[in-house]
Order: sequence, then structure tokens, then C-alpha cells
Amino acid sequence: MSSLSTVPRRLCGLLSLTLFAAAPWASAAAPTPGLSVVVKPLVTNGKVEALEVRQILTKDLPAGDTPLRFRAPLGLFGVKTIADKITGLSVLDANGPVPLTIENKPGQVGPATGFRYWQAARKTVAPVTVSYRIPTQPATEGGGPPYGMKASGQGVSGSGLGFLLLPANTTSTATRFDWDLSELPRGSIGAMTAGAGATLLAGGPSELDSQWMLAGPVQVHDPASSPGLHVYFLGQQPFDRADILDFATRSHAILASSLKYLGTPEYRLFIRSLDVPSYATGTGRTAGGGALLSTGTTLGGQSLDKFKNTVFHEMAHHWVGDLSGAGGWFVEGLTTYLSATLPCEQGLADAPFCALGVNGFGGDYYRSPARNWSLERIDGIGSGDENTRRVPYGRGLLYFGLVNSQLLAKSQGRRNVIDVLIPMFVDRSKGIRLDEAAWETMLLRELGQPAVDEFRASVIEGSKTIVPPSDAFGPCLTRVALTMTEIGSSRKVEGYEWRPVAGCNPRKNRT
Ligand SMILES: [Zn+2]
Repeated sequence: MSSLSTVPRRLCGLLSLTLFAAAPWASAAAPTPGLSVVVKPLVTNGKVEALEVRQILTKDLPAGDTPLRFRAPLGLFGVKTIADKITGLSVLDANGPVPLTIENKPGQVGPATGFRYWQAARKTVAPVTVSYRIPTQPATEGGGPPYGMKASGQGVSGSGLGFLLLPANTTSTATRFDWDLSELPRGSIGAMTAGAGATLLAGGPSELDSQWMLAGPVQVHDPASSPGLHVYFLGQQPFDRADILDFATRSHAILASSLKYLGTPEYRLFIRSLDVPSYATGTGRTAGGGALLSTGTTLGGQSLDKFKNTVFHEMAHHWVGDLSGAGGWFVEGLTTYLSATLPCEQGLADAPFCALGVNGFGGDYYRSPARNWSLERIDGIGSGDENTRRVPYGRGLLYFGLVNSQLLAKSQGRRNVIDVLIPMFVDRSKGIRLDEAAWETMLLRELGQPAVDEFRASVIEGSKTIVPPSDAFGPCLTRVALTMTEIGSSRKVEGYEWRPVAGCNPRKNRT
């Protein structure tokens, strides 16, 4: 195993709760853009080596006498430096070059390790033009969420946050983004989460931070059987594209028909392959309308099922969305729960696939020294300890399995956890707060006070270890008690795994 395959796993839940808060239902018709951005991938010897960025601030400069300010991340999780790599920065207005002073503000902000600010030393007059270059991130650097803009095949992909210097204090409420593909192979396209080609985004320049981006000779699919889905492949994948396309199409259709409340939403799935060993990380901002998944040209130590689970997982985030307040147990727990149950219930995957989905986060929970810590204590650890940070994910997964079983038992199989969640999601889309208090209100109504007490003990306080019933993850997985070794020590702990039931057909046994 190379070191790349042991990098920290994806951080989507953590990130979605910090920087990325926009919801798909928040995007309304955009007004005239105050900022226009054009990105040109620069090619050397067939590879995208750098990006040239040109911006024009046509209006909506800072109000009053406040001079214009720009910012770019110092670095990101998995991307060592960004601001330091920007060269040839030019800011011009009608009065000539705009002098800039620089200030670094280190400190973790979501995935960013801090920001550099470029402050104009005088007031500017629109239009203001900005240009600079930045090299692509080396393919072997980093890992984890694919934020850095990396060369992939004959194209490039990554995130806006990974390379953009942007105005930080304009009053602009709409941004136009386009690509200059003149150095890329004929037929290349450029796209980002919000759209393909020239795209208008509602919101200020920082909306570009949370966009996944991709440009090059891309294979694009808009499957008719799941309207709204767009799948993009860049580079040489280590699997049959048709197989993954079929899986993604059916995943989108299953999530749309099961969770209902979004109809058949627009969703862009970007899949890039790098010329390095595979580390199938993917990340999508919560409710963000898309994700970028990264592989190598071989799957290496990863299985195809693990990659497919990641496809379903990232897509499920779009429907799960956010919980107001600290919500890793909900955002990641529910996403993981859906990824480990819906594919089997709906005939998309077999029991071993779903067992993998349950036992990954579930096993991490049982084996963690922090399994009985409170969420507050876990939050205090921050993002420094991956094993501890992931405990709420497994805790949430097991908890949703438990609640689903309780709801089914109470209703004689007529009502499950998705049935109680859909109206809560509809409320959220109307602006009603979805938080732990709303969850408790639902529990009280559906299952009574003991369920509220259990939620507080097992999820919030963590004092009660969660042991869902044997059939909590469907009739084709069965619970097995195991003695496990605690992470980071030789201490033995009691835990559980869910194993496939031989010959079981989940669809036949559905209630
Ligand atoms: Zn996730």
C-alpha cells in the first residue's frame, strides 16, 4: 500500500458544516453579475500545468470609502500552499495599477489553513481587472477531499477554493464564470457544480469556493432514465464507465423516488482519474448539487464496491442536507445509513455491499476509545484526531438503524425513518429550522419520551452504547457479536458486525 492509500478519509460532513451552507433550494434567478471570471487551463507537453485567471469587477465595488480587498487560502486540507503559488498578480483600474498590501491570517477555517488578504491601498473605480497564474497541484501531493486543481488525463479538475483569489468585500450578488479552453484538446468542455460552460451564479464571489470544477476532453452523460443527473468522466478510469454510469443513474433515481421532496434534482457527478495510485475519496458539500470523486488509473487497494458506495454516499448528501447546529451524527450518520440500506432494499446492490457500508463506520464506532464520549467532548478534539472525529458518523449510522427498527415495530411495518424524515425535510425547505430539538419533537410524537431519553443518552451524551437489533439494516444482514481490539491500544472491547444472510433476497422480504 502506498502512503496515498492511507491518507485521512473524506471529510464531507465536517466541511459541510463549516464553509458550505448554501442549499439547492436557495438558488434563485440571478441578477446582473458584478464579477466575471474566466479560467484558462495552460498546457505544457499535453498536461495542464497551470491556470490563468482573469476577472473583471464591472460594478458593485465596496460601499463608501472602503478599499477593495481580495483573498485566497494559504492552504487547504490536502493542499500545502495556494496563496504562495500565485504569480503575476495584476490589479488595474482606470487610474492604472492598484497598489496592494498583503496580510496573512493563519488559522483553520473549514478546510482552509487560513487566508492571505491583498488590500488595495487606494479606492478603485470600476471596471477593475485582475489577472494571475497559479500552477496545478502536483498529482502526488495531498489526498483526502479533492480540493486541489490537478491535471487529469488531458484536462484539469478540483475546487474553486483550491485556486481562486477572489474579491472579499464587494457588494456584488451575482458572478459569471466561464472557461477559455483554447489550449485544451478539440471538443473539450468546462463545467462546475452549478452548470456547464458559461454559468451565472447567484450570490457573492465566495459562491465559487464551493464549486467543483472540471475541464478537458470529458465524456458526459445525461441519462434519460434519471432526469437532472449529469455524469462526467475525465482521465482513464480503472473500471468500466458503463457500469459506474448505470450505478450512478440508478442511485440518483432511487434517492429521488425514496426521499421524494426534491423531485428529480439537478446533480453533477464529476469523476476524475489521476496518474497516481487510487485513493477513492470524494466529497460533496452538503446539499450542494454535485461531487467530485477521485481515483487513480488503477483501483489499487480499493474495491469497486467501495467506490460505488462513495458514489451513493456523496449523492445522498444532496438529499440529507444540513442539520442546524453540530450535526455530524445526523449528516454523516444518515448519509451512511441510507448508503448501507437503500441500495439493497431497491435491488441496486447485494448484501455484501451493504454489509461493507454498515461495518465501516459501525466498526470504527465500536472500536473507538471515544465511543462513549459526549458529542461536546468529541467536538473539542477538532479535526486533529480522525478516529475520534468519525465517531459521531458511526454513532449516527447505528442510531438511524435503531430508530428505523423502532418505528417499524410501532407501526407494524407501515412507517420507517424515511417516512418521518420527509416532512422534516419539506419543512426545512420552507425555512423551518431542522435541528436536534426538531428531531426530539418527532421522537416524542412517534415513539414517546423513552425515545427522547435514549437519543440523549446514546447520541448526545454517548454514555449508552448503541446496539441496533439484528435486522436493523434489512432482512439480509444479521448481527454478530465480536470481541474487537480498541483503536490505538490492545484493549479488547465488545462490538458488532452485520453479516450477509446466505441466499437472502432483500426485495422479497420488504415490508
Ligand atoms: Zn459524507
